[in-house]
Amino acid sequence: MAEVYEIKGEDGTVLEVLGPDDEPQGEVPEPQTAPEPTGVPEPETPKPTTTPEPEAPEPTAAVSIASRASWGARYPDGDLTLTGPAVEVWVHHSVTAQLSPGATVAAEAEQMRALESVGQTRFGTGISYNVVIFPSGRAYQGVSWNRRGTHTGGRNSTSRSICFAGNYEANNPTAAQISTAAAIYGAGKDRWWTRGAPLGGHRDVSQTACPGRNLYARIDDIRDGEGSTPPSPGEPGGITVDGFWGSSTTRRLQQELGTAVDGVVSSQSVAWRDVNPGLTTGWRWVADAQGSRVIAALQRRIGMPSGQRDGKIGPQTIRALQRYLGTRVDGVISRESSAVMALQRRLNQGRV
Ligand SMILES: [Zn+2]
Repeated sequence: MAEVYEIKGEDGTVLEVLGPDDEPQGEVPEPQTAPEPTGVPEPETPKPTTTPEPEAPEPTAAVSIASRASWGARYPDGDLTLTGPAVEVWVHHSVTAQLSPGATVAAEAEQMRALESVGQTRFGTGISYNVVIFPSGRAYQGVSWNRRGTHTGGRNSTSRSICFAGNYEANNPTAAQISTAAAIYGAGKDRWWTRGAPLGGHRDVSQTACPGRNLYARIDDIRDGEGSTPPSPGEPGGITVDGFWGSSTTRRLQQELGTAVDGVVSSQSVAWRDVNPGLTTGWRWVADAQGSRVIAALQRRIGMPSGQRDGKIGPQTIRALQRYLGTRVDGVISRESSAVMALQRRLNQGRV
């Protein structure tokens, strides 16, 4: 392999290794976005807005990635343009400063520029990773999705990288980071990578501890898109798995989804009451339904497009929920509903 850059821990452990692919580089080096003129003074103030890159429109899923311009990218956007989606996705850690979840955007932008300087100094191709996620949960575009970086030596042309800023051999990723990574992995399917592209840790394919044991242990959560709530197996006060969706089920769901916890599903269309006998206590049936926040959050969690997240439990939402849970798809919640039982089991496992 070509020259690599290793970051070692105090005990000599290789915490991260960056490197280019072996094949000749730079045949068609034109970046799609004109890099900012070099020689710009160092303390560049990041722009507060997140202007979408022309070649990377915002995904429809609920994930926002701040543009290269937003953090003040100064150097080339990788070394060449890649065609077609990636076939693998690798999770990394940067082993740079460990910012707090409350860090400012300016502090994160500064870290992005520091990371960019590393890749530029070593390989002359700007920042190494495709996307970098901070403990705040905010994500920043590194090397563009369709440009080659230097993240996973030997596989840079065929894979893309999701990097957590910091050292996750020593620290734990935050729930916000896992949630953002899960959203990005989901949003990239059929877009930045093939639907079946496996997600793994850098250590699976290189001699490195990357992405660190604490992050490596969460790869499944990122892949399954269920990282936003830590698992709470055996938590006291688990709900009864009986297939009836009443107040206690709603209360647990509200806890998991982070909406106000009152056990009530407000403002649902009375037209759906009698056809869904598995929806019991705590449902507020009205003639002019406005929807509820917990249902809107659920619609988001199960991947319904933003235009369909109306907070109402209609047949469309029930079908989407049944598909999500892997139960029979018929668009109604019957008594002792298998979908509600599956939901209750997952709530007890802390995995909605
Ligand atoms: Zn790595």
